[in-house]
This record gives sequence, structure tokens and C-alpha cells, in this order.
Amino acid sequence: MSDCLFCKIIAGEIPSSKVYEDELCYAFHDIDPQAPMHFLVIPKAHIGSCGEITAENSAVVAHIFEVISKIAEEQSITDFRVVSNCGEQAGQSVHHLHFHVLAGRDMTWPPG
Ligand code: 5GP
Ligand code: ZN
Repeated sequence: MSDCLFCKIIAGEIPSSKVYEDELCYAFHDIDPQAPMHFLVIPKAHIGSCGEITAENSAVVAHIFEVISKIAEEQSITDFRVVSNCGEQAGQSVHHLHFHVLAGRDMTWPPG
């Protein structure tokens, strides 16, 4: 999608700090970190949000969770939170599916 911020990051049109990349997904540090470790993992193919996951495109979601587990192990992160905001009322500001991975501080539940 030509007007999508995260598609532009994947294309290298907007700079980002890479954590991991493969043919299906891209992980990069959040520009406004909410924890000592805060990165985002996104599918390379544009999906608008969790609400657009279907039987046809869901394989990448399983892949992303495998990647999150691998990054956590490589970076010796044992305790972390994975969040995906779906829709503006839930806090979604970028309409390209992304999983926040947060670690390095105590976290409360439920979130505000
Ligand atoms: P959302 O609010 O949609 O759940 O999360 C979007 C995230 O993208 C936010 O945490 C925000 O800080 C991050 N973000 C927005 N623009 C940029 C950008 O240009 N670069 C990076 N690295 N992160 C961004
Ligand atoms: Zn996109």
C-alpha cells in the first residue's frame, strides 16, 4: 500500500532500526519506546489489522510468533509482553498489522 507508513518502512523509504528480517516479516525498534526493550514485528505483505486476519493470510501470524520467540531467546529476554491493537478505540494508530514486543520493566494488568 503506497500510503502506508509501515509498508514504506519495509520498502526502506523511511529509515528504521532493524531487529530482524526475513522473507515474510520485519522487526524494528519502536520510535517511541514504552519499555527498555520495545520493538514491532510486522508482516511484509500489507494486512490492515488483526481484524483482517483470514484463513488465507494467517500463516504469517504463526511465523511472526516463532520469530518473536527466536528474537527473545537470542536477546536473553525471558519475560515479555506481546500486544496488537486492533482499531482506533483499542489504540491502533498505524493501520498495518503489527505486534508490539515489550520487555525490561514490570508491567501491570489490565492495561489502561
Ligand atoms: P499502534 O499505536 O498502532 O498500536 O502502534 C504503532 C506504533 O508505531 C507506535 O508505538 C509508534 O510509536 C510506532 N511508530 C509510529 N511511527 C513510527 C516510525 O516512523 N518509526 C518507528 N520505528 N515506529 C513508529
Ligand atoms: Zn502497509
